[in-house]
Amino acid sequence: MKNALDLFQRITHDLLNDEKVNPVAKHIPSSELFDTIDLSLKKDPLSEAEFEKVVKELVFAAPRTATKGFFNQLFGGRNDKAILGELLAVMLNNSMYTYKAAGGMIGVEKVILRTICNMIGWDENSDGTLAPGGSMTNFMSMLMARDHASAKVIQEGMQQRMLVYTSKVSHYSIPKNATFCGIGRKNVRYIPTDSEGRVVAAQLAQMVEQDIANGGLPVMVNLTAGTTVLGSFDPIRPVSDICKKHNLWLHVDGAYCGSVIFSKKYTHLIDGIELVDSFSVNAHKMLGTPLSCSIIVVKDKKQLYNSFSNDASYLYQTDHDGFNLGKTSLQCGRRNDALKFWTLWKSVGTSGLEKIVDHQFALADTAREYVRNNKDYTLYSYDDTIAICFNYKGIPARAICTLLYEQSELLVGYGSFNEDEFIRLITINAQNDHQDILNFFKTLEQFVADNAALFEGADLYKST
Ligand SMILES: *Cc1c(COP(=O)(O)O)cnc(C)c1O
Repeated sequence: MKNALDLFQRITHDLLNDEKVNPVAKHIPSSELFDTIDLSLKKDPLSEAEFEKVVKELVFAAPRTATKGFFNQLFGGRNDKAILGELLAVMLNNSMYTYKAAGGMIGVEKVILRTICNMIGWDENSDGTLAPGGSMTNFMSMLMARDHASAKVIQEGMQQRMLVYTSKVSHYSIPKNATFCGIGRKNVRYIPTDSEGRVVAAQLAQMVEQDIANGGLPVMVNLTAGTTVLGSFDPIRPVSDICKKHNLWLHVDGAYCGSVIFSKKYTHLIDGIELVDSFSVNAHKMLGTPLSCSIIVVKDKKQLYNSFSNDASYLYQTDHDGFNLGKTSLQCGRRNDALKFWTLWKSVGTSGLEKIVDHQFALADTAREYVRNNKDYTLYSYDDTIAICFNYKGIPARAICTLLYEQSELLVGYGSFNEDEFIRLITINAQNDHQDILNFFKTLEQFVADNAALFEGADLYKST
């Protein structure tokens, strides 16, 4: 083990040094990957030296998500305290299903869930769990909504047509999860959005009433705190009224920006969160823990037990159910995703988490201001989001993003809303400062200036 840790130290030490000079790893086209690095698996072992060489090569070629060149998608940066927790979780290799197998780590998870529930204002009937990703916490919410709507479905399967409502710009896991739940993609209803990409509650009310009149069973509304493209926040209060009236489960998907709950300045963006049935947050997005750290909290923990607990006498042999977290989990064996968030939170305090969140909004303000004040740019996104959507000199967004990637300059993605396609800069790496954001634009502008010839063929990249 000691040799492996020494090797880890050597490789990561060299990587950190290299990242300072080369924030973007040299792009390897996928068609050349297997010819560039020897990934093949063979019968005979490698010598220690050969092994070190190929592992290092692979690590150095990997996309660098913690540097000032990565603005691609909803995560980034490297928080040292969180990394420490993650490394310790790997060393300890506890499985989070029982107190017997995870001991104090169960307390770590419980204290995180309890503190978040308290921040929402929920009482001791609330609880939650961690699952491998925001798609999976959304899945859990839909399963609870389904089981809440029909007592029969757990034993006897689907009895009637159920309907789920979500905005047309919500995450793609919603329709996907509808298939997993037996609800079906065709029974996902898309709520129209306003000009800023937020659901229109009045339209939802009409849709629900019409579906009931047609004999359907509406079971759930999914709202988004930070939509994937524009970063918008759906209004919770008016939707909660509709859900109460028709006994619908209300979930808020805060995978991207639910962490505003840690900020006094921005928590108003999820005003009414105490009214919902479940709420999910990814600490691996705004809070910068390593992937993945996905939390779901539920107002009434009976719903968690109802949908997820199974008796298993070979497993649950000791201690109170409240410390055997397998009883509220989607999984059996479960990695310890809580520790990295706890080491971060414990070290910086709740006020430190607040600073992380506020800093990202401040970086976004800097970026928006730059785009607004520069006539070569067109802005497509709105205030109070950490997504800055823009086009530069009318060049198709996918041409700029693809070429920046292929030339190993910057990693940034594009998105679309209504008819527009645009570059989407995400200011989610809290290790960046304002100058890093301005440098992003400088790099982009210089790249376009230096590669005018490349952009003459930009039509090739237009959406089809
Ligand atoms: C990222 C994201 C998800 C999915 O989370 P994963 O952890 O990637 O599975 C769900 N909803 C929204 C709004 C997201 O931004």
